[in-house]
Amino acid sequence: MLHRLMDLLFPPKCILCGKLLTRQETDLCHDCRTDGPEFIKAKRKIPFVAQWTGIWYYKGAVSESIQRYKFGNARRYADAYARLLALRLQQEDMDTFDILSWIPISPTRQRKRGYDQCYLLAKALGRELGCKPVRVLSKTLDNPPQSGITSSAERRANVLGVYAARNKALFRGKRVLLLDDVITTGSTASECAKTLQYSGVKDVYLATIAVADKK
Ligand SMILES: [Zn+2]
Repeated sequence: MLHRLMDLLFPPKCILCGKLLTRQETDLCHDCRTDGPEFIKAKRKIPFVAQWTGIWYYKGAVSESIQRYKFGNARRYADAYARLLALRLQQEDMDTFDILSWIPISPTRQRKRGYDQCYLLAKALGRELGCKPVRVLSKTLDNPPQSGITSSAERRANVLGVYAARNKALFRGKRVLLLDDVITTGSTASECAKTLQYSGVKDVYLATIAVADKK
């Protein structure tokens, strides 16, 4: 009942192009689902990450959608991204991890934004897969955003030692799936995976909404 009322007040729209959805459509309109942005095909090797998967390439309607999600308060997109990610994880045989977690933003940035977009994604994916996300990392330094830095070496240096492992007893010897919104060079994900492995995690898997071209 509440769901029907919410749909009347806020009719669901396509998360990519913004078109109103019909009753038959979920998350994406027919055009975006069948003839929309290309799904990721190529594998990318990220140091310390056992396996990675993602939904789309970060460009056009995809980058606009993620910008609305991260900076425009479009928090409801988390459910749609999670449904698509759950499908990717099944296709890639990556749905057998032990612990679901996410790459956190710093407390300072969370205060400014009002929410942590990757935590929302983890909660939504947890609902899809029937598990609860566990925090395994915290961001201990509010470093400059990676998006403003172009060289790979500088991006690696910018995230070095920025994350600390949490709840170590819970994840020792386990396989952890980390979520992030977008990866570019993979420096952040790699640093997080390294931090976790040094703290006893067996394998770190990574799933992201999108992958951006290296500049
Ligand atoms: Zn659409």
